[in-house]
Amino acid sequence: MDAEILKPLFFEAQKIINVHHMDSSEFFSQCCFEIGFYQETDEAFGFCDGTFPDYVIGIHQLFSEPTQEDLKFITMTFVHEFLHILHADWQENQVRAEEYKLANLAEYGDTLLRRDHAYLPRRRSLKKAIERSDLARGITSEPKTNTTIMICGDTYDEQEEDVESNLIWARYMEKRYDYALRLADKRLKKHDDGRTMYYKGRIYFEQGKLSDALFWINKAIEKIPNDPYPIYYKALILMTSGNIKEAKYFFDGAAEKNSQEGENNDDLTRHIAFYKEKLSGL
Ligand SMILES: [Zn+2]
Repeated sequence: MDAEILKPLFFEAQKIINVHHMDSSEFFSQCCFEIGFYQETDEAFGFCDGTFPDYVIGIHQLFSEPTQEDLKFITMTFVHEFLHILHADWQENQVRAEEYKLANLAEYGDTLLRRDHAYLPRRRSLKKAIERSDLARGITSEPKTNTTIMICGDTYDEQEEDVESNLIWARYMEKRYDYALRLADKRLKKHDDGRTMYYKGRIYFEQGKLSDALFWINKAIEKIPNDPYPIYYKALILMTSGNIKEAKYFFDGAAEKNSQEGENNDDLTRHIAFYKEKLSGL
């Protein structure tokens, strides 16, 4: 069966995520998905593989001659795989729980129950049948050739750098720190990027890991010495560690850089003034 049939279901699943879970339309538009039917050997209806922005989502070939009901099952399987992609740190049972919640919200009600009840036995007998026929033909099971299709967002190619950086920032803002750190490490393997070092410093600072925070902020300052933000964060870390004198020195340094910056960020100016005032008697 042609993988084209999966396309509308793939987009329907994105809609379910965006409406009932969280709006991830921007994320989806930045990804490049390869989707198709696969003959997998585990007990799953689908699988996903890859790291941002390239993912493969396979749907079990059990569904490759879909009935009307199967189409719904496939849609929810996409939802399940999207949840894995969006929450790389979630356990299987967390994904399953959210998948059931979304199925109810999206009025796919008992679709999942029926899928699980009806298909697991079919799955197992299919597997046995494949094994038997392979044995009979005296061959080892080779994966069948699959037709897959690529679905890519259109913004990715032009803005790879920004997109990666923005994603780290987005995960940071969502307080998904482990995820943000993984993305940051991945990026730092390819690019010696000061902005990413700065993000790492901020993440560790939020987590209260002050020495890790200082380590990455110092690296960022080395890399992007004219950016006032890493200097400002260095001052915050020092202040939090009780090094008031040093903190004052770096607040001054950040203020100076900020006044030299073309944009001269008013928010930053206010923040620095606030802390300098706070520390003035100390
Ligand atoms: Zn799963």
